[in-house]
Amino acid sequence: MIIRARTVVTMDEAPIENGAVAVSENRIVDVGKFDEIKARNAGEIIDLGEQALLPGLINAHCHLDYTCLRGKIAPQNTFTDWIQAINAEKAKHSPKDYLASINEGFAGAKRFGTTTVANLTAFPDLVPQISSPIRTWWFAELIDVRAPERVNELVDRAIKSLVSRRPAPLLSEAEVNARWGLAPHALFTASANLYRHCEEVALREGILLTTHLAESREEMEMFHDASGSLYEFLKAIGRPMDDCGNETPLELFLGAHAPRALSHWIVAHLNELTESDFELLERSRTQFHVVHSPRSHDYFKHSKFAFERLHSLGFNICLGTDSLASNKNLSLFAEMRAFQKQFPGVSPEEILKMVTVNPAIALQQENTIGRIRLGFYADLIAIPCGETGNPFEQLVAFDGLIDWTMVNGKHPADAQGSGNLPAV
Ligand SMILES: [Zn+2]
Repeated sequence: MIIRARTVVTMDEAPIENGAVAVSENRIVDVGKFDEIKARNAGEIIDLGEQALLPGLINAHCHLDYTCLRGKIAPQNTFTDWIQAINAEKAKHSPKDYLASINEGFAGAKRFGTTTVANLTAFPDLVPQISSPIRTWWFAELIDVRAPERVNELVDRAIKSLVSRRPAPLLSEAEVNARWGLAPHALFTASANLYRHCEEVALREGILLTTHLAESREEMEMFHDASGSLYEFLKAIGRPMDDCGNETPLELFLGAHAPRALSHWIVAHLNELTESDFELLERSRTQFHVVHSPRSHDYFKHSKFAFERLHSLGFNICLGTDSLASNKNLSLFAEMRAFQKQFPGVSPEEILKMVTVNPAIALQQENTIGRIRLGFYADLIAIPCGETGNPFEQLVAFDGLIDWTMVNGKHPADAQGSGNLPAV
């Protein structure tokens, strides 16, 4: 099959005018000018006309569980108030509701051009019942604050659910099997023992890890000063607070992990960093990956994300939507625009990398997704693109729904679940 478009944005080189991509089964087998591709390849030609063809987008941090909480929680005075509000909302829903919520989230993400998600789920036992329509890294979100003595059981049960899940119809068994990881929720809800146990599994099995770190002022206050609303709340529910009063969240995190494990970690947020934290990051020989969620960040009114400093230290920075309990929808285009508003000096091309090339690196898939390149998976989307102007600017400005998506070589005519589903 040959797919022709006005512009092919490969993320490898300058966009190719009147370009085309040849796809065989689930892989990209050729990319270049339409004339050349036509001469070199046989098969059906799909002409997308005045559109840009680009790699499907990758959401580096989301919680599809909470798609059903969209619009349910107004911004609160403190992060602690928000945690209590989401806990109250969560209690109103059954496993059946969450199953529907996750499926609705997948459909919505896909309609906004997302073809891969790093998805944290608090319900790993539901995962075997779900057939994801896009590439999915399932991270079991683990919390042991109320039962720290059951760490091994918690982790073992999550792994069992994730590895036994039903294969997605679009992906081969081998591909499906590699797609899981562990997500100790955050330093304030997951014990040092739980983090250690997850890291041991990651090093043994070669899986990925993700967590929330240094997200809020309250988290910094709790760990650094042993005070504040989050400290009081967690103390009241019986969390041992002996790790509070000395170190910053980052110091605690880095102090507890083996440097060789850091490249397995995808760290969400990192909004609260002190000068000593930056010195620590400068000295760190190995680095983790960072996810910024611009709209969720605005919702919580967190401290400004230190993009420039982290970027200049060489951190791989990605974008994610976070959950709809703190965001309006699952559009990475809206996320790119919110980022552009926060950091107008960053080029649209750099911003697009944060939802393609960069998250592919974080997922250790830099040789399979995030670019249009020979041998990569055929995960592609098309967006209307005019003749004039910088194509990257046009792409970041796009605020519609995606009409044409290909996941793993399947286009809308034969892909499942791509009908007129609402985008959330
Ligand atoms: Zn999150």
